Amino acid sequence: MITISCDVCKKKMDDPQYGRNFFYYASHSVCESCKDSLELNIKNAIRSRDPFEINWFEKYVTDSLDKAAQKGKA
Ligand SMILES: [Zn+2]
Repeated sequence: MITISCDVCKKKMDDPQYGRNFFYYASHSVCESCKDSLELNIKNAIRSRDPFEINWFEKYVTDSLDKAAQKGKA
């Protein structure tokens, strides 16, 4: 059986199924609850960003993931 750990909360995911209970974000594997928190943060940041730039967005997603992985929570 394959076990993948979430890069953010370090929780082990048994029987990981991509798109169902684990996700890839900016080359990190994240569990569903971390993905939800991250998406919420990113969504809020996008709303307050005017004008919106795709370069900023891509960097923001990568930075958010790196920070979350360091902190151990999204
Ligand atoms: Zn997680």
